[in-house]
Amino acid sequence: MGPGGGGADLISALPEDLLLQELHVDTRIPFTYRIDIRAPALKRLAMSFSTSDKIIVLVSVLAPMLETVSWRCTYSTVSARFGLWGLSEVRLQTEENNGHGGQLPPHVNVLSLFVAADDSYEFPEEVSLTTEIEKHMVTHFSVLELRIETWGHVFGAFALHILEMDQISTAIQSLKVILLSSEDDEACPQNCPCEEPSNWRSQTISLTNLEKVEIKGFQGEGHEFDFLKLVFRCAPMLKTMSVRLSDEVTASNDDCCKKIHDVFKMYPFVECNVIVDLSPEMSIVMVLCFGNVFALEE
Ligand SMILES: [Zn+2]
Repeated sequence: MGPGGGGADLISALPEDLLLQELHVDTRIPFTYRIDIRAPALKRLAMSFSTSDKIIVLVSVLAPMLETVSWRCTYSTVSARFGLWGLSEVRLQTEENNGHGGQLPPHVNVLSLFVAADDSYEFPEEVSLTTEIEKHMVTHFSVLELRIETWGHVFGAFALHILEMDQISTAIQSLKVILLSSEDDEACPQNCPCEEPSNWRSQTISLTNLEKVEIKGFQGEGHEFDFLKLVFRCAPMLKTMSVRLSDEVTASNDDCCKKIHDVFKMYPFVECNVIVDLSPEMSIVMVLCFGNVFALEE
């Protein structure tokens, strides 16, 4: 299959493709049922396809020599879920290592999960979110990106559920959590399912290789601080923590910054930043390093 080609119920590169080094597939068909790639010499793979909650897509990729990957699966309707969190897109992409951490190689593979909260999701049967995510791990990765449309819900229990997956907890060296919310977000109703399991705040998991964390869209809610503390507690090798405040709180950020610095002070050997966007062109980075605060312009 050449660039832009392909697209069928079955996308396959079979053993006769022993010498195939590059494969690009970008399907425009609405639903892909099965992907089967066995290409021992494959170095570059670009795959873009869609599926839906009505289909359990079967994925099998055997490409041990893979050097770069661009894998993108979009769900035409939100698919597998955990509580009220549904998966809308998964990507696994090779990116240049700009800003993912000093110890990482020049190119890193980034697993990106796009999720959104909605208590109106209905599924014909419960599809395991972790099983759905695992099938897209077609090669190794060291960076996890969680893009979460919170709609005002508590994301900590969900994020913990993802971080404790075997393949993720040991693999990730860098974590980026992007919180997408809007001013119209309503507070959770009482006993909201987003808090399940309710003991998430006191859990400890082992993120043994995690060195760098960035949280964007931080609004200063109590549960966000609980998540921040959880990450510090679970990542003994952490070197850098950056918290970028959401636009909504930057106007009245003094209290929020102080509370963040109070958490940072408990981990004096981690380089910690609070980033406050003053305008589209200018940000202030407040660095807390070994207990001292430095303000820098970005
Ligand atoms: Zn909720």
